[in-house]
Amino acid sequence: MEYMANPERYNKMTYRRCGKSGLKLPAISLGMWHNFGNMTPYTNSREMLLGAFDLGITHFDLANNYGPTAGSAEETFGRIITEELRGYRDEFVVSTKAGYYMWPGPYGEWGSRKNLIASIDQSLKRMRLEYVDIFYHHRPDADTPMEETADALAQIVRQGKALYIGISNYSPEQTAKMIELLDNHGIHLLIHQLSHSMLGRQNEPVYDVLAKKGVGSIAFSPLAQGLLTDRYLVGIPEDSRAKGKSVFLTEASITPERMRKVTTLNDMARERGQALSQMALAWVLQSATSVIIGASRLSQITENCRTIENTDFTREELDNIEEILNN
Ligand code: NDP
Repeated sequence: MEYMANPERYNKMTYRRCGKSGLKLPAISLGMWHNFGNMTPYTNSREMLLGAFDLGITHFDLANNYGPTAGSAEETFGRIITEELRGYRDEFVVSTKAGYYMWPGPYGEWGSRKNLIASIDQSLKRMRLEYVDIFYHHRPDADTPMEETADALAQIVRQGKALYIGISNYSPEQTAKMIELLDNHGIHLLIHQLSHSMLGRQNEPVYDVLAKKGVGSIAFSPLAQGLLTDRYLVGIPEDSRAKGKSVFLTEASITPERMRKVTTLNDMARERGQALSQMALAWVLQSATSVIIGASRLSQITENCRTIENTDFTREELDNIEEILNN
């Protein structure tokens, strides 16, 4: 049956301006790092993506290497757009990235012009798109002159293959330099994609640089890959990311000390009348323009989108959270 988007979708989400740009992003964006590759059932990926769009999520985040297998999340996305969302291309923002390992040999990763230009062309083919809205340099490259990376990013915009440029995993100093280099090309850096959650706060200094320069921000793994939800409150479920093959969230990383914090945060969320996932996302949304959630099922996306019903914190609540996190 032909997919028809929910006509109420734009009443269900809030949209926030991305730095000093014309682009607004949904407070909640959906990432396709996990559960969209060709090793997971297509029907579930399709249900999550279309369900997210029906909830007002207008931003889908990809990278060349998302899968597994690498590249297959972009292929899944390409299939869903072609088969279901063709008529809606102007109603959503697609991002992809290059910089992490993608293909063998000296050109398959990092930040050379060779890597970036080849990678965007591959991504567009896999997604069956003429352009992406945001193209990211996925990680800084200490060995390639940053000027070359900036040149390549500017070339991608001039060729119409991306509308905006983003960077990810850059330090505050590297961010400031890339902003300046892109400015020299007449391009305003749109966004920085950084890891940020209640349990991962090492990148908070980046926000100051972004605020000064009018650059937007989007936080990845805002739920600490699922730790900041009710998923692990009573053990490690068989169908969870931690039980799976992820090297980024292992069973060993779910320590009693972390779970003590998570349990106390969960009690606090309940007092606020929210799920822990919703409180964790609301907390990051105080700093970031948008948060990119991951999901393994549509019900998680539905729960997470309801975050926007309460994103306010009292001073006392914020102080309590600091105390829980610092103890
Ligand atoms: P999250 O921190 O949102 O973790 C997502 C996982 O948490 C889900 O797969 C699910 O785990 C669990 N979860 C989510 N919602 C709920 C809920 N309501 N209740 C219970 N469990 C829930 O983000 P990710 O780590 O997945 O990252 C999100 C996106 O960020 C990626 O898809 C990618 O687009 C981007 N990213 C970018 C990086 C970069 O270097 N730029 C690096 C990493 C991510 P389960 O599978 O166990 O159900």
